[in-house]
Amino acid sequence: VPVENIRNFSIIAHVDHGKSTLADRLLEMTGAVAFNSGHQILDKLQVERERGITVKAQTASLDYSYEGDDKVPSGNYLLNLIDTPGHVDFCGEVSRSLLASQGAILLVDANKGVQAQTVANYRLAVSRGLVVVPVINKIDLKNADPDRVVSQLNKIFGLEEDTILRISAKLGSGVEDVLKAVVREIPPPPADVSASFRGLVFDSWFDKYRGAVLLIYIRDGFLRVGDHITSAQSGQNYEVRSLGLLRPSEEPCKMLCAGQVGYMTCNVRNPAEVHIGATFHRKGETVEQLPGVSAATPLVFAGVYPSDQSQYTSLRSALEKLVLNDSAVTMATDSSPALGQGWRLGFLGLLHLEVFGQRLEQEYGAEPVMTAPSVTYKAKLLGAKNIKKYGTDEITFSNPAHFPDVQIVSEFYEPVVTATIITPDEYLGSVMTLCLDRRGQQISSVNIDNDRVMLQFLLPLNEIIVDFHDYIKSTSSGYASFDYESSGYVPTKIVKIDILLNGNKVEELCTVCHFSRAVMVGRHLCTRLRDLVPRQLFQVAVQAVVGSKIVARENIKALRKDVTAKCYGGDITRKMKLLRRQAEGKKKMRMIGNIEVPKHTFISVLKR
Ligand code: GDP
Ligand code: MG
Repeated sequence: VPVENIRNFSIIAHVDHGKSTLADRLLEMTGAVAFNSGHQILDKLQVERERGITVKAQTASLDYSYEGDDKVPSGNYLLNLIDTPGHVDFCGEVSRSLLASQGAILLVDANKGVQAQTVANYRLAVSRGLVVVPVINKIDLKNADPDRVVSQLNKIFGLEEDTILRISAKLGSGVEDVLKAVVREIPPPPADVSASFRGLVFDSWFDKYRGAVLLIYIRDGFLRVGDHITSAQSGQNYEVRSLGLLRPSEEPCKMLCAGQVGYMTCNVRNPAEVHIGATFHRKGETVEQLPGVSAATPLVFAGVYPSDQSQYTSLRSALEKLVLNDSAVTMATDSSPALGQGWRLGFLGLLHLEVFGQRLEQEYGAEPVMTAPSVTYKAKLLGAKNIKKYGTDEITFSNPAHFPDVQIVSEFYEPVVTATIITPDEYLGSVMTLCLDRRGQQISSVNIDNDRVMLQFLLPLNEIIVDFHDYIKSTSSGYASFDYESSGYVPTKIVKIDILLNGNKVEELCTVCHFSRAVMVGRHLCTRLRDLVPRQLFQVAVQAVVGSKIVARENIKALRKDVTAKCYGGDITRKMKLLRRQAEGKKKMRMIGNIEVPKHTFISVLKR
């Protein structure tokens, strides 16, 4: 296929506006998959199917024969489609996908209208110089109001009515026009076929047999099986073992040419060698590196430890492989007196963290202990002696266990974000109350149509990571949407809360919060623990402590737990089965003192 007949594009939108459904239709209409072969074909991961959301961008190469018009000639076109996730926690995936795209289809739900991620994704695409094809989806819905969405798109982005398509991805109506618009409006890749080979790695995953599989965008020249290539980032050399297109399942080929997107294997056994955003070139040549993405800055950190130190190596291997496939996650080694050797991982949000944990379990069978998530704080130190000791006058910590002695700190700083919230007028009051309650400061408010408002708030990151999204949804019956970006640090007053179970400190649960929240958070943690920790054979006291002051306390009553009590008579096999099951359950526990705490408690305990 000549470069002029290639189109590389991503589908971007707010969550649930129909990206994966549109991708299904495009796959079907171009013959890549059979009609009605299933739902959300590109959502391949178990977690995506269970949660009904896309967490991983997926690529598919489609053949499309276009009849031609005044602008572009007829012929066979190669369309590389990338379906992206919509949730703010997975914006790293969108950002990477746009690296290999010259255009984006921006979908907007005809009923819900422009939402927070619609705004964020549109701005991202435009800032990368991509052509945006606006499409209103779900026009089949009874309460669809496409005219109103058109005026929102016009008001917010200045998009003209006659450039906006109206479709139903579910029923397939109007989808042919989307294909035509892709060919007409989106430019072919800016590729130089005759130049030396340059390729950009924009995704990767690990395969047991072949090692790392790299998704590569061929910017210039061509690549053949057997070629010797070098990573400009690491200087490492490789021999290309296999190449192919994703259609969407792998279709091997001998050569990939400038403008194309495809996969490559070159016997990379160590996942840590792969750099997303790296430029590959022919061995022995020097080329200018292609612009990669500045890695998304992780906002939320959590400790990850093997449940048992004997699993350290296997957990490390699982983490490295999964991080290869989720390059927004950062990983650094860490250790703790209670938990041993482990890692501190950085995520873009709590959903990102939860999905990562779930994928570790489902795809790698690993069930590590994950500590309570935290943001990164800063502390300005007092006194020349301390400054000398730390080698700096400002320390940074994300692990609450590293909370410094307040005596040596002159000021603490916490990260803040600028949040964009779009809500119908009728929920404005409750949304504002929620933001103010979370220590927010209003920046602006704009009407985007007769009864919808777009708000901007400065909010402490710590106040939104855990459950803000759930709250915004429930307080607005699901109508308000929310997106955010980091906005630096502001001075703050924070304290560390320790949790004790029968006097034993639970390191996984210590947390940092604003001083005004200490009692509330302490009480909340104690009651949640009372409900989440299974009863033991003895009474357990749960205490929340700030410094030497107890701010909250609860008791977990004693219980005699005899799982075989129900089995009377001599049915020994049944008894054995029950005892075995209890033993299985125990593996998912962590002992604190002499108390068994389920591993999942450490994260779920924070939710209000
Ligand atoms: P994504 O999060 O943007 O990928 O959205 P999905 O493709 O997963 O779709 C979210 C939901 O909207 C699913 O229940 C789809 O069946 C539904 N949906 C998608 N397109 C349409 C449409 O054109 N009409 C209607 N009525 N529902 C749609
Ligand atoms: Mg999707």
